[in-house]
Amino acid sequence: MTDTAYMETGVVEPSRHSRQRSPLVDPFQRAITYLRVSVTDRCDFRCVYCMSEHMTFLPKADLLTLEELDQLCSVFIAKGVRKLRLTGGEPLVRRGIMTLFGSLARHLDSGDLDELTLTTNGSQLPKYAAELASLGIKRINVSLDTLDPDKFRAITRWGELDKVMAGIDAAQAAGLRIKINAVALKGVNEDELGELVRWAHGRDMDLTIIEVMPLGDVGEGRLDQYLPLSMVRARLAEQFTLQEIDYRTGGPARFVRVAETGGRLGFITPLTHNFCESCNRVRLTCTGTLYMCLGQEDAADLRTPLRASEGNDLLDAAIEDAIARKPKGHDFIIDRRHQRPALARHMSVTGG
Ligand code: SAM
Repeated sequence: MTDTAYMETGVVEPSRHSRQRSPLVDPFQRAITYLRVSVTDRCDFRCVYCMSEHMTFLPKADLLTLEELDQLCSVFIAKGVRKLRLTGGEPLVRRGIMTLFGSLARHLDSGDLDELTLTTNGSQLPKYAAELASLGIKRINVSLDTLDPDKFRAITRWGELDKVMAGIDAAQAAGLRIKINAVALKGVNEDELGELVRWAHGRDMDLTIIEVMPLGDVGEGRLDQYLPLSMVRARLAEQFTLQEIDYRTGGPARFVRVAETGGRLGFITPLTHNFCESCNRVRLTCTGTLYMCLGQEDAADLRTPLRASEGNDLLDAAIEDAIARKPKGHDFIIDRRHQRPALARHMSVTGG
């Protein structure tokens, strides 16, 4: 198996991973090659499906410092992680974040990391896009659910569409490839998704549509927001020719080619499709908690071993213990009677 196939499927044959220095392989023979790090739980938006209007954020003192985040990421890279995504909250609102990107970029230069990237709401890209590109970042994900300024304000509560559009312009001008992520919301953007496809593909950007996930109490009924992607896909298939393609990113998205635009369209359907068998990722929060699965509560504290000694031995052992507990899969359920979230923590804690 080549390293590429290894990354794309996330599943290793146990005897074929000798090139990795000390690869992390979970009990289901999935190689952990992808780390997502939420560098802050704070955000300059309050998207209705993600946060409640009045969020209580972590005290700043609880956050790992940028140096600690660098150390943790570097240990994961030494243990075979090849792709690193910074997310949040909004990663670009963390003070000094470009210092962290700058120091992590050394792993791109050394060849130990294949990709350093981020997921952003785009609001800070006018400020940072050029610097990100100069550090070796090639592709980014930008979250955008609508092209209508009023709807955009209603969804994000605090956001301005113009700023995000300026961010997308700045990123493309800097040479960054963009994938747009849009959450499908019942009665909100469901009639607009065809337009989003045309717009994204017209600007040479892939588009992924995400089914709303029951994470965290957001003060609105999940069933009011939930729109099954099977329905979205069926409606898009009335407007476009959706051609099955083989393209995979190692993530949960399933892609089709839209014949009329030539662009790629992905669907992430955690509630209606199981994508756990090839999961190659784990998620670290800004306080150093490692979640082995987005959809389960089990987590490992890495901050204590990180702070307990100068070297990385305790951390190494804690990471190995955690990966040995990575569950086979998740089971998101929207509680239909009480409309409770399946998990109490918000997406902004573990990062999208
Ligand atoms: N602030 C950054 C952004 O907007 O992309 C990164 C963090 S945000 C939590 C990452 C992604 O998670 C966004 O695309 C957002 O739309 C998505 N997201 C948040 N809550 C979600 C939920 N309950 N279900 C599905 N997607 C969600």
